[in-house]
Amino acid sequence: MTKYIPIIGLEIHVQLDTKSKLFCGCDNESFNVAPNINICPVCSGQPGVLPVMNKQALDFCILAGLALNGKIASETKWDRKSYFYPDLPKGYQISQYDKPIIEGGEVEIFFENDEKKNIRLIRAHLEEDAGKSIHDRSSEFTYLDYNRCGTPLLEIVTEPDITSSLEAELFAKQIRRIMRYIGVSRVNMEMGHMRFDINVNIKVEGSEIKYTPIAEVKNLNSFRSLVKAIDYEVKRQIEEFEKNAVEKNDGNKKTFLWNDQKEMTIEMRSKEEAADYRYFADPDVMPVEIDQAWIDKAKEKLPVLPGDRFVRYRSLGVSYQTALSILENMRISDYLDVCLQKIGDNENARKELVNWFGREIMAYLNKMTESEKAVIDLEERLSSDDFVEIVRMVDLREITRNLGKEWLDKIWEDGEKLADLKQQMTENKIDLDQIVVDVLNNNQNFVEQYKAGNEKVLNVLIGKMMKETKGMVGVEEVVKILKSKL
Ligand code: ZN
Ligand code: MN
Repeated sequence: MTKYIPIIGLEIHVQLDTKSKLFCGCDNESFNVAPNINICPVCSGQPGVLPVMNKQALDFCILAGLALNGKIASETKWDRKSYFYPDLPKGYQISQYDKPIIEGGEVEIFFENDEKKNIRLIRAHLEEDAGKSIHDRSSEFTYLDYNRCGTPLLEIVTEPDITSSLEAELFAKQIRRIMRYIGVSRVNMEMGHMRFDINVNIKVEGSEIKYTPIAEVKNLNSFRSLVKAIDYEVKRQIEEFEKNAVEKNDGNKKTFLWNDQKEMTIEMRSKEEAADYRYFADPDVMPVEIDQAWIDKAKEKLPVLPGDRFVRYRSLGVSYQTALSILENMRISDYLDVCLQKIGDNENARKELVNWFGREIMAYLNKMTESEKAVIDLEERLSSDDFVEIVRMVDLREITRNLGKEWLDKIWEDGEKLADLKQQMTENKIDLDQIVVDVLNNNQNFVEQYKAGNEKVLNVLIGKMMKETKGMVGVEEVVKILKSKL
């Protein structure tokens, strides 16, 4: 039996959310502004200008390097990567060739069956983006918008450790979370803040081991197209290998573009080798030395990362999907962590809390739009103190689950105060002794059955008591008083 194992490597471009561009003072905003507004002689490639490195972009890279478990280079430099394209007015891109700012690194991905896998990184480097060619405005002309020229990009390059579109998707989404948590990018997919290139080929395990030619697919802009392009290439390469048995060699790597409408890859050109780009050190951009003090300063800004949070939530019994949706938004995850801190170390109470959070709070949040969620002040909507207190009362059976839920609704939907709700409960303090007498008197038939030895009817009586006490008395107390009176 022949086995086909996909070998996939990713290059992820992340747009850094710096105030100004990488080498000039232009506003680093290219979306939702008029074309060619945020440009100057430096980023539009006029002769005789001098680029000046943006310190914030370096800070962001160092922070990202730490979050990706990479090694921050003590010395890093920039190189010119020469190629011609109308949206690259200088005729070269300032990128990093042999001394990237981040070397190595690794990111863990988690599967639904509790397995996990480490995806190793080769490197990550800091480079400038090109402008945008707009082809769909006119059938005659291509329009050029240079606003994006010189926007800083972090390019993250993985080892070919990925073997399926699912792994690629989990990895890419984890990278997006990490970038969001450390605050270096808005990682808005619609705005093109995160773009993927993939390298795919197949290891064919038959009587001997062979490899299909590598295909590079460029400029995938969504998780959906990332998954589709991988699935398409894997299928295409297996089919082609079965027909012509062509193996990978030094000269047959090809570059493809993904066509989102046709859902297929289209061959663009045979792949340029590094030599075609004529890399050389950019004489206008100084190399940068990064000392330990600089790295230590970045370390202080590092939040608890999504991977660690995910493992912790799962260990407390949160379902896979719920854990992922909590992690999608750091404000939500931060709020949960504050609540967990407040409830203390009791394992049961902690589990009760994440349970309530996963079920009730996430249900409230899921009714909101992404943009509402992005700015929500959870502490104001439902203070962590109140939430923890309600969970604690339920856990200690001071109130029923139903009443706890009712209180949450009243606080969340109607803005009521927990203190008032507790006050009302005390005022309405019911006369338990009277209720039990009434319930027993009104249900003589069940009382007799119980006394005759049918213990099951106790549940009926408990139900009647719960109804009469409107959930304000815990079930244990109800059972205790019923048994004492029976
Ligand atoms: Zn500029
Ligand atoms: Mn690049």
